[in-house]
Parts: sequence; structure tokens; C-alpha cells
Amino acid sequence: MTLYKKTAHELHDLLTSKEISAVELTENIFERIDAKESEIGAYLEITRDVAEKSARSVDEKISRGEKILPLEGIPCGIKDNICTKGIKTTCASKILANFIPPYDATVVKKLSAQNPVILGKTNLDEFAMGGSTENSGFHVTKNPHDLTRVPGGSSGGSAAAVASGEAIFTLGSDTGGSIRQPASFCGVVGLKPTYGRVSRYGLVAYASSLDQIGPITRDVTDCATVLNAIAGHDEMDSTSTAENVPDFTKSLVADVKGLKIGLPKEYFVKGIDADVEKSVRDAAKVFESLGAEIFEISLPHTDFAISTYYLIAPAEAATNLERYDGVSYGERIDGADVVEMMKNTRTKLFGEEVKRRIIIGNYALSAGYYDAYYLKALKVRTLIQKDFTDAFKNVDVILAPTAPTAAFKIGEMISDPLKMYLQDVCTVPLNLAGLPGISVPCGFTKNNLPIGFQLIGKALDESTILRAAFTYEQASGFKADIKD
Ligand code: GLN
Repeated sequence: MTLYKKTAHELHDLLTSKEISAVELTENIFERIDAKESEIGAYLEITRDVAEKSARSVDEKISRGEKILPLEGIPCGIKDNICTKGIKTTCASKILANFIPPYDATVVKKLSAQNPVILGKTNLDEFAMGGSTENSGFHVTKNPHDLTRVPGGSSGGSAAAVASGEAIFTLGSDTGGSIRQPASFCGVVGLKPTYGRVSRYGLVAYASSLDQIGPITRDVTDCATVLNAIAGHDEMDSTSTAENVPDFTKSLVADVKGLKIGLPKEYFVKGIDADVEKSVRDAAKVFESLGAEIFEISLPHTDFAISTYYLIAPAEAATNLERYDGVSYGERIDGADVVEMMKNTRTKLFGEEVKRRIIIGNYALSAGYYDAYYLKALKVRTLIQKDFTDAFKNVDVILAPTAPTAAFKIGEMISDPLKMYLQDVCTVPLNLAGLPGISVPCGFTKNNLPIGFQLIGKALDESTILRAAFTYEQASGFKADIKD
């Protein structure tokens, strides 16, 4: 049986009609994990007992004749920077190698209210810093479409699990592209909600003014369903918005007639792969043929987004990561005195990239440089936000590549951090502006690597990008393709 290839909504129908049981489905996924995990490495921890217990309780509910919720019994994975009560949450860092949170993140609580089958915790770049999972303190995840390539990052484990059949859906986090870029590299759907749409309580902080949790799924319908489950105000996160949460599945209507779509010329940058550019421009033609209007637009400060992001994110990271001092959280390496102990702990247990960002962040925040770097970056951030505000006066959504290339080779960029940072050119502007974005599969390169485009929406208007994404998906037929 190939239940592991199906979407959550297909499986929900099979569970509801009693054609399959949740235990059967869970067994099927574990068989797949047993077959694939040694080559993919999507997970850091597999929680078989928790999963089997949930599956049994779903079956009991079905046998009592009760109705099940859309995600009930559906096997899923959670990125390992999202706290899970009683289950290790390492952030792929040696410094948190044995950290077991005493509480669930709000998203886990909300998801658990639907009783999905939680399979385990997925791999990431350490503390979500990176775009390839090569910065994981434990292992590199492989791209299911080509094992010599990265799955993207930082939510690479989450995307690879969905693309390989090792989970039906997963949660990721996105600070500068970490949901959308791995989704595009792995040929699946990934959505970064508007900043504040989903509670960050229990998400281990990387850059608090940019971080958001969101779904990675096989299709747009599942994406809307998972977003429904996790969105909403939370008194534990003062930055979560009190705005009403619409039913996102209501946006699953195939209709873009009259929708104004902007193509930002700055996103078709030098260095963009020709196959990627062609696929995204072809997608624009599909939208046009379905009745949307396409406009070329300009987001003039796009060029500054990378440098702005790589000042603000490290500045916030340096502050957030101060807590890992060998005393309050995580592991400790002793020394002759407290100072030496802290030095040993942080030197030996943080990876290279995390240390690089702590140094950049502290430098940018230090007296004498604060105005020149951090404050300047905040001002440019406002200009980037204004670019979007201006653009959205004329268009309803913006269409762009998710990343300038398809998945790159493992080892290709890791020794050149700047080159790696430049990969984020299409994703970081949204985080700086707090806007929602969804990455949707739209083709393959000549080497058969998945390509994704990104639809960017107005603040709190996930509904419109979901509708446009759904319309494209129905018309194009591009969907996650899970290999045997
Ligand atoms: N690749 C980006 C970075 O390295 C984005 C990471 C993220 O979104 N968590 O910071």
C-alpha cells in the first residue's frame, strides 16, 4: 500500500469512510520511514510510541461512530526548534542535545487538539540558521529528488520528510525563507504566514521580529487545513495578532479572474537560473490564461534586503542566544571558573555558523557601531516595507521565484557563507516586511530538480495567495511527486 504518497485530505476521506484505519496508516508510514530514513535523514528523533498511541485513540473514536477532525490520525513531523512537552527539542544544536521541554509550543497544543499522529522531530540548520541543513549539529538531510543535493533549509528535514513520504505534512519555521526555500527545493508546498498570524510561543527564538511557524504540505488544500489548525491569537505571544482568523479552506476556489498579479523586476536578478526564470514566467502565463492580469512592478530596495536581514537577524540572534550559558539551559562544559566554563560551553557546543552570527550580531549592536549598522538596517527595513505597501496599491499579489536556483549540491556553498546568504534574495524581503508568502511547485529543471514560485500577499491576506496557489495547482497539475 502506498498510503504514504497521499495528501492529508485524501487520507481523511479514507479514514472517515473506514477504508483504512489510523493504525494501518501509521504502520504504513513507519514502514516507509524504515525504508527511507537511513538515506534521507529527515528526522532527529522518531516518536513511535507517541504516534502509535494517537493512532489507536483515533481508531477508537472512529469505532465509537464519532466524527473525526481534518487532521485527526494524519501522520506529521514537527521541526525540532518547536517545543514538544516530554520530547527532546534540540534545535539541531549540541548545546541543547538533551533538552526536554516541560511544555508544548502553542502550535503543538493547537495541532494536538486535532489529534494528529506525531511521528517525530525534523532536522534543521542549527537554531534555524542556514539554507541547507548542512549547519545541523547532527547530520545533513538529503534531498529526496537527488541524494547528492541539499533539501534546502533551515526546515530541510520538514520538507524532505513530506517529499520522501516520511510524513504527510510537517511544521517548519521561516525567519528568512526557511519554509519556502526547502519547499521549493523538495517540490512541495510551504507557507510562511503573516508575522503575528501564528503564535511563536514555544518556538525557540532565532530572530524574534522575523520568525514565523507555518505548514509544509503536499498540496495547497492541506496547507490551508494545517494553517486553520495553528493560526490565531495567543495570550502567551504578545506579537500574535488579535485579528479574526478566516477559514482558509474557504479560499480553495479555482478562480483568479481579474486578480492583479505583480512580477517584481528586481527578483529576476542576475544569477537566476534560466530554468527557474522560465518556469516562473510560464506560471505567470498560466495565471494570465486563467483570467488574471499581469503587471511588471518594481520593489526598488530589494537589493538591500540581504544586507539588512544579515544585520537584523544576527543582532536578534546574538541577544536570543545569550541564554545558552551552561547555567540556565542545555549542556555545560566545565572550566576552572564560571567564565572559563561559559567560554568552553559556547565555544565547543555552538557550530561555526551560529558563532559567526553571534559575532556579527554583537558587533552590529556594540557601542560605536550600533548607529552605523543596526539602526541603519532598521531604517532600510522600513523602506523595504514601504516598497511592498506601494506595490500593493496596484496589485493584489506578487509572483516571484522562491529561490534563484534549484537545490544545490551538498558541500557546494558551505565554505562560502556570503554565497549562501545571497541564496536568500527572494525570501528575506517578506520577513522584513512581515508579509505572508507561499511556495508552490511549478516545474523541474533540466536535471529534474523541482522548482517553486512564490506568491506574496498583503498582510493577513493568506486567503488570496492560497486561492491563487490553488487555482494554479488545479490548472497546472503540478503536485508533490513522491517517488517509489
Ligand atoms: N537562510 C536564511 C538564514 O540563513 C533563513 C533562515 C530561516 O528562515 N530560519 O538565516
